[in-house]
Amino acid sequence: MSVTTEVEVEPFRHFDAEVLAVRPVGASLVRVTFGGAGLRDITTSGPDQRIKVFLPRAGEVVPHVPTGPDWYARYRELPEAERPVMRTYTIRHARDGEVDVDFVRHGDVGPASRWAGTAAPGDRAVLLAPDRRFPGYARGERVGADHLPPAGTAWQVVVGDETALPAISAIVESFPADTVARVFLEVPAEGDRADWALPPGVTVTWLVRGGSTTSALASAVRAAALPEGPGYAWLAGESGLVRELRRHFVSERGLDRKRVYFCGYWRRGKTEDAAYDSAED
Ligand SMILES: Cc1cc2nc3c(=O)[nH]c(=O)nc-3n(C[C@H](O)[C@H](O)[C@H](O)COP(=O)(O)OP(=O)(O)OC[C@H]3O[C@@H](n4cnc5c(N)ncnc54)[C@H](O)[C@@H]3O)c2cc1C
Repeated sequence: MSVTTEVEVEPFRHFDAEVLAVRPVGASLVRVTFGGAGLRDITTSGPDQRIKVFLPRAGEVVPHVPTGPDWYARYRELPEAERPVMRTYTIRHARDGEVDVDFVRHGDVGPASRWAGTAAPGDRAVLLAPDRRFPGYARGERVGADHLPPAGTAWQVVVGDETALPAISAIVESFPADTVARVFLEVPAEGDRADWALPPGVTVTWLVRGGSTTSALASAVRAAALPEGPGYAWLAGESGLVRELRRHFVSERGLDRKRVYFCGYWRRGKTEDAAYDSAED
């Protein structure tokens, strides 16, 4: 008699990655293409697939990341001086053994932005990303990917700033031909506009911030005439802005809160670590 033991595969696991190429995408983002022997196992479970990117600390070549099921507890236990940088990003493309991640260059103030500004082929990182061998993905399960308009949605609105541009690009590319959608994107510079082939029912409004420190996104969305019928909103970007937009859709437009997905992608004046620290208070 033979006994088959099914090896349990977690939805996400750590992958050692090496930078293969770096190139600008528009004026404010840089595309880092990662490769590595294991990266063939990385998949996406939806267009806005989030991952964690671990980067070496100053003076290190390879980030030392605890792995295995209890990795997060062990990561948090590390003295701060030994903890690798961990930041959240979006898979822009995953293809045979390669993964593209588009990093906003918002200056040298953050370790990830700084790293992306000098990244070069051969640099090392670790990605915590979906493992295609997880059986749930074959059943259509989503883990860390949230753009999912409920059945019967008549129209959708997709709103974000430049940090959401990689996710929104993938969302727009995933639209079926009969999609009715309004997309609003605020970016730092004219050169960040993307040129998408769009279904006829989709319109995109680009707002260019230029040198301004204030956002015009909320007022543009407020002023928009939206179609009738059950809608769906996907909102991502600076967290204060995202909260304001969510309130607008739920309280002022009367959208069922279950039909509003929102996620603060960054917080003005706070590092991503600060967000984790306050979540644990
Ligand atoms: C689900 C999800 C997906 C994301 N996908 C992407 C993606 O694909 N590409 C991408 O570039 N970002 C993405 N982000 C946002 C990214 O994680 C944050 O911008 C992160 O703070 C960058 O880390 P950092 O080390 O550069 O800066 P941090 O050390 O976290 O912050 C340092 C300082 O920079 C400020 N800051 C952080 N981000 C910005 C910004 N974009 N513009 C201006 N100031 C900023 C902070 O307020 C802080 O004052 C995503 C976030 C989430 C939650």
